Amino acid sequence: ETALSLSGIEKTYNRGKTGAVHVLSGVDLTLKRGEVVALVAPSGAGKSTLLHIAGLLDTPDEGHVSVAGQELTGTGDARRTAARRAEIGFVYQFHHLLPEFTAAENIVLPQLANGAAWAEAEARAKELLGTVGMDHRADHRPSALSGGEQQRVAFCRALANAPALLLADEPTGNLDPTTSDTVFAALMSLVRETGLAALIATHNLELASRMDRVLHLDGGRLTERGRSGAS
Ligand code: ADP
Ligand code: ADP
Repeated sequence: ETALSLSGIEKTYNRGKTGAVHVLSGVDLTLKRGEVVALVAPSGAGKSTLLHIAGLLDTPDEGHVSVAGQELTGTGDARRTAARRAEIGFVYQFHHLLPEFTAAENIVLPQLANGAAWAEAEARAKELLGTVGMDHRADHRPSALSGGEQQRVAFCRALANAPALLLADEPTGNLDPTTSDTVFAALMSLVRETGLAALIATHNLELASRMDRVLHLDGGRLTERGRSGAS
């Protein structure tokens, strides 16, 4: 099943007198459920723009975007917001967990917002925490957790409502290499457990090489090593 499909994506920013920047050019990308894909790009290459378009936070000038089989090109904000909440999880370099709530509560809250009952939401939170080896930290607040633990909770929260697609922007950017490995292993467990697709922007080439596919974004074009073009 296709989690994300981008085709013929074009994006240009106009910057007044300094002219226009053509950030994305003819970008095609299909992610299937169960795939973990690295996005490697130099700074300024358009990585955030691509993640925002895939995440339905920004719209391309041209091209089609579909998420979990729903065509979302040219649809209104309400439908895009609904699709984003139901089908997309986000993780950033900084965890953005709510400091007043425990790890488990941080994973419960988005489920309550989505209509789940407390008991059901709490059971899922504990199950997700178990998948990343964090059962024993469920009742700790973020400030009592290490950076790697906080990021594992952030992954669980992103997956709380069982989205089809996870978009991560440098999720291990703040962590030392050993902790990065633990967090990456946790992510792989979650992907195997939930069968979602993950697109992970990273500067860590060693980590990228361990993912299923490695995409490069340069000069507005998306290319895939070992393939004739991005599929
Ligand atoms: P990355 O995340 O790879 O660093 P971005 O997607 O943030 O790259 O930006 C790609 C290019 O587009 C950069 O040259 C950036 O300055 C430009 N850019 C990004 N957002 C805007 C914007 N809202 N208005 C004008 N230019 C922008
Ligand atoms: P909420 O359900 O809390 O109102 P939204 O529907 O606005 O959140 O957004 C859903 C997801 O998109 C959230 O996980 C949030 O982190 C992310 N998000 C929303 N707006 C932005 C933005 N401008 N930049 C990056 N991520 C955003």
